[in-house]
Amino acid sequence: MPQIDPTERSIILVTLDSCRYDVAVNAHTPNLDRLGPLHRAESPGTYTLPAHAALFNGFLPRPVLGALTLGGRSVDSIWRSAAARPTKRRTAVPFDGPTLMAHYREKGHRVIGAGGVTFFDSSDPANQLPGLFPEFLYFGRPSRSPISKENRITDREEQLTLAHTEKIANQCLEAERFFLFLNCPSTHIPYTTPWSPLTDRNGELLRRLYQRHDTKVSASSTATLTGEDTQMLLTMQKQALEWADSRLSDLFSRVAARHPLVVVCADHGEEFGEGGRFGHGHPHPTVSTVPLWCGLLDEG
Ligand SMILES: [Zn+2]
Repeated sequence: MPQIDPTERSIILVTLDSCRYDVAVNAHTPNLDRLGPLHRAESPGTYTLPAHAALFNGFLPRPVLGALTLGGRSVDSIWRSAAARPTKRRTAVPFDGPTLMAHYREKGHRVIGAGGVTFFDSSDPANQLPGLFPEFLYFGRPSRSPISKENRITDREEQLTLAHTEKIANQCLEAERFFLFLNCPSTHIPYTTPWSPLTDRNGELLRRLYQRHDTKVSASSTATLTGEDTQMLLTMQKQALEWADSRLSDLFSRVAARHPLVVVCADHGEEFGEGGRFGHGHPHPTVSTVPLWCGLLDEG
């Protein structure tokens, strides 16, 4: 096993958009499990923009209990910005610079981002996140496309970032070292993937769920989803996570020779009416509590 200083590694940073912690606990994720144990963590943001703004400054969702282990070394955090308050907390990679991307670019890494939720549509000048990357690939629907049943409640594959692992890996491997960020929309509403396809039943449920999102209808009204409905949504997100896990296996195998440091987390979770609301953007525990995995690929 090569002993490479974590500060000199290639990096893969993945956000599984909207993935709930309890869904991750119940999912079969053998490839993510290769990285290390699943941590219950708390996100600093309740929706995509603030969560990623923090993430790109090194502030990952923080484990509720215990430290992280990287290559046998116990750390309290993986990255720590020089802009943060001084601390005695143990950090794997302290960094200067305004963002992780600027830091790794300065170190000579090839910095590549890819995404699928509309905050990452790099063609929209209102989106600030993709502009933080010298190279960004966007696979989702146009951020300003009209909202319709057809473009929201739909089967998805090409729109999913992890459907493009061969292209993304090849770009990374052109460089000696890389920093790769992937925002993965498979676990974001409508939760459809090749392993969780659209059906008459879940399509009708998604139509009602979008109505709750659009109107912010309270779960205490007659619009409440049934327990069976909620279970179907949890199952769809679980299947979407398991599909993402299988695609990450493909990505990991393509870049394994570089032994990257890998961090996978959700940017925020999702509420299915437990506290009276649906979706995210508000601080309910199902929104703030997220899964986190990290490890040095092929070194446990
Ligand atoms: Zn998000």
